[in-house]
Amino acid sequence: MKLTIIYNNEANPNLKSGWGFSCLIEENGKKVLFDTGCEGPGLLYNIKELGYEVRDINVIVISHQHWDHTGGLFDVLELNNKSEVFVLNSFSEHFKNEIRKRAEIKEIKSEQEITENIYTTGLIKNEPDEQALILKTNKGIIVVVGCSHPGVDKILEIAKKYGKIYAIIGGFHGFSDLDALRDIEIIGACHCTQYMNEIKERFPKQFREIRAGDVIEI
Ligand SMILES: [Zn+2]
Ligand SMILES: [Zn+2]
Repeated sequence: MKLTIIYNNEANPNLKSGWGFSCLIEENGKKVLFDTGCEGPGLLYNIKELGYEVRDINVIVISHQHWDHTGGLFDVLELNNKSEVFVLNSFSEHFKNEIRKRAEIKEIKSEQEITENIYTTGLIKNEPDEQALILKTNKGIIVVVGCSHPGVDKILEIAKKYGKIYAIIGGFHGFSDLDALRDIEIIGACHCTQYMNEIKERFPKQFREIRAGDVIEI
């Protein structure tokens, strides 16, 4: 299992940064793009710069319908109409139709497998509704989150059913109940995380700075 941060508020020097999040997950020859940042050109630039081809992406998962996670989607689909796009069934009809015109769409309601060892939490009710990814690895579960609007604790609750949580990566939004992070070995809070300093202070060993271009391989 290999995770590459494609887009984030912070980036390594050779890459574009912006308010948003995107992560590429590779497992058994499949490439899954989770979220697409806030804009297409920077996202496409980073994908190329990191040695990937947009047309090789097999699956796209959109965590929630916010501009900083959907911004690059249509730029990706312009270059790749073969990938399946997993959205929540509660996303707007307009947005889903625009995807349908360009690619095969899968509407998610409940927990399910996306591809081998990669699962979605299914729709977690909130404003807006959100889904996160659960990755099964031999070190434990890696949870990849967009903004965590429903709360990191709610997402972890679902992920825990799949095994012990090894890592969590993505935006934590206003999540402040830090006890919930206690037993996690890698806490890659990034993007929209409001309590970044508090998390860093409380978990200095587990906290991992995340920048576009970072790779986590297990
Ligand atoms: Zn966000
Ligand atoms: Zn959001």
